[in-house]
Amino acid sequence: MYEVLETSYREVRVQVPVHRDDGSVSVFHGYRVQHNGARGPYKGGIRYHPEADIDEVRALAQLMTWKTALLDLPFGGAKGGIQVDPARLSARELEALTRRFTMSISHVLGPFRDIPAPDMNTNAQVMAWIMDAYSAGHGYTPAIVTGKPLAFGGAAGREQATGRGVVYVLLAAARRWGLELADLSVAIQGFGNVGSWTAITLDELGVKVVAVADIGGGVRNDHGIDVPKAVSVVRAGGSVVELGDIEQVTNAELLTGPCDVLIPAALGSVIDEDNVGDVQASIVVEAANHPLTPLADRILEDRGVRVIPDVLANGGGVTGSYFEWTQNIQQFSWKESRFNSELDGRLRQAFEATADFADQHDTTMRKAAYGIAIQRVAEAARLRGYA
Ligand code: NAD
Repeated sequence: MYEVLETSYREVRVQVPVHRDDGSVSVFHGYRVQHNGARGPYKGGIRYHPEADIDEVRALAQLMTWKTALLDLPFGGAKGGIQVDPARLSARELEALTRRFTMSISHVLGPFRDIPAPDMNTNAQVMAWIMDAYSAGHGYTPAIVTGKPLAFGGAAGREQATGRGVVYVLLAAARRWGLELADLSVAIQGFGNVGSWTAITLDELGVKVVAVADIGGGVRNDHGIDVPKAVSVVRAGGSVVELGDIEQVTNAELLTGPCDVLIPAALGSVIDEDNVGDVQASIVVEAANHPLTPLADRILEDRGVRVIPDVLANGGGVTGSYFEWTQNIQQFSWKESRFNSELDGRLRQAFEATADFADQHDTTMRKAAYGIAIQRVAEAARLRGYA
């Protein structure tokens, strides 16, 4: 069983030749790794990044297996990537790259086989190209990919789902741990899709967001940031530092500044052994994937800081993708209010199951999340007769 769970079921590597605008041809390399499909079709994003190599894609595919199992979604885990810097491609070249890659891996895709989604440097437009390329050979198939544009098979609520989900998980934690959210101050690193929707949702609930940061730097106000203003500045292409008349902080200062809840929602490994000693928050919610290094995680655990792990905290994204997939399959669309209440219910259930497991086994939320996920996948694999 260990070997079944440790290795991938299938790893596809393809060459992706693209005719460039200048008449030359560039050959890129793409991957699709299907880690484990015992619980359902493979599910996971596709990233376009110069460092998207087989090892990275393999690790991220496995993370998806545990995430979908913890959230009790009928999916397995997969990830894909093309080793490319998309900033160096024109829109036409990007479309050609996406269509060629989709054709090359289409034999391992399918709405009941493997369903990609956006990841780093891929977006709703890229998903629309994937759906169009796949549908050309298989007929109209919106359920082949999630994260599509609203006008083309997407689901109302999906764009906001990861950030909203972070807040739903935090609300579940507050209920379980007897905290009054209105009394807490929150700092958020990252003001992109996840960070901004987390901030907007907290603000709507009257929770004080005291600091936010993006790649341009950060700002802090102990009385609360003007979140709608920050959103409008960033949506216009700016950085949160352009919010006038406010204290400026660096990203490093944001991570270690005074707050009750710290939400890293940008990059991985931002809290390591060098800065973990200065973290003042008593709760860390991992909205980004692996923002804590394993050593920093252990140090926080020893200090009694509560960490809500990424597989749970940012699980709203893949849960939202599941809702999009089910709507596509049924050719029936939900209202956004239904999407949000189903999201809340599923995340609450996953949080409670994780907290129960952690209490029963006197362990951390992270180990509890993995414990539940591995048990579920192993049970399905055993029932299928894999091991
Ligand atoms: P995004 O590209 O929309 O936003 C990223 C944000 O991080 C931006 O505000 C950017 O300015 C900031 N940033 C980038 N580099 C930085 C740096 N060096 N220092 C400080 N800030 C920096 O990305 P996103 O979709 O919001 O994803 C954020 C994180 O959440 C990633 O770790 C991603 O893997 C994870 N995640 C996203 C989703 C999703 O549905 N979008 C789902 C699960 C996990």
